[in-house]
Amino acid sequence: VFENPLRPAILAAARSTTLKAAITRAPVTRSIVKRFIAGETRAAALTAARAILDTGRLISIDHLGEDTTDEAQAGAAVAEYLALLSDLAALPEAREPGGVRPLEVSVKLSALGQALPVDGREIALANARTLCAAAERSGVWITVDAEDHTTTDSTLSIVRELRADYPWLGAVLQSYLRRAETDCRALAGPDSRIRLCKGAYREPDLVAFQAKADVDASYLRCLRVLMEGGGYPMVASHDPAIIAETDSMASGTGRDAADFEHQMLYGIRDGEQLRLAGLGAQMRVYLPYGGQWYGYFMRRLAERPANLGFFVRSVFTR
Ligand code: FAD
Repeated sequence: VFENPLRPAILAAARSTTLKAAITRAPVTRSIVKRFIAGETRAAALTAARAILDTGRLISIDHLGEDTTDEAQAGAAVAEYLALLSDLAALPEAREPGGVRPLEVSVKLSALGQALPVDGREIALANARTLCAAAERSGVWITVDAEDHTTTDSTLSIVRELRADYPWLGAVLQSYLRRAETDCRALAGPDSRIRLCKGAYREPDLVAFQAKADVDASYLRCLRVLMEGGGYPMVASHDPAIIAETDSMASGTGRDAADFEHQMLYGIRDGEQLRLAGLGAQMRVYLPYGGQWYGYFMRRLAERPANLGFFVRSVFTR
């Protein structure tokens, strides 16, 4: 990831409104985007989710949208998630509390209003609480995504507050952050659900490791803390080295396949996802949908030069 020399430029482009307009308008973009995004509508997401569930994998559906600039937009995001939760409640995989829930939604607090200049935190908290209540009724889990480091304290404090009423609510920790191991120790307690990922944003050296080797080493230290803790680790990585370590750490800490899960992104290493599920592992697929796919798509391009090459080739060889 972090050895890609173009990563900073692509992540900067992910914030550019000019480029966003150009790239989202290019007709060819859509076919490439389809590789990573289930579609623009909830119906498309549910069709893709059905196909994944039918192969024995679990799902976490994300409605794309992160730059919420007013309360009405936050309200629209809440409405979309409520509709999604009610559609998911109708699936046979919806579950009562207790045990692993095959259905999950992933939510970004920025979509729920966290960055609004007045009362952003309180608006996001209230909106997230509404979604937690609906998820509980629907037999669906929620995990709150991690965004850039300026949001980490606010996001973790919102999750902590909501977990008093909804102890199943999951949080995400990013191993590229220098604080990650400390956060893992604080959050690895009984019943906690922590998704561990490397981190997808462009972060300064002051707060984040920059070299891939350091990010990977931090990931393994964090993973050990979670595996030795009392919670339910969610191991979000496509990295073969991490996946191999996960299995040995799980058996070394007396966990069986039901006590943790692997997670990967929709469209990435599908064969490996099926292989792990076939071996009896719990394998959850993060499935994004919606019209606002630009930021998500650019973060995927930044991760992997091969993805970028694929995209650029498709743009220039119609
Ligand atoms: P990398 O270091 O990117 O890749 C390591 C190795 O994995 C590669 O060398 C290759 O062997 C293999 N690999 C990776 N990608 C591919 C590919 N496309 N095809 C084939 N092999 C590949 N980030 C956040 O900041 N916040 C979040 O809330 C968040 N949620 C996530 C949820 C899930 C379920 C997942 C899987 C990721 C999430 N991420 C999130 C993104 C994450 O932080 C990383 O940016 C992303 O997963 C890439 O890191 P990696 O661990 O897969 O390994």
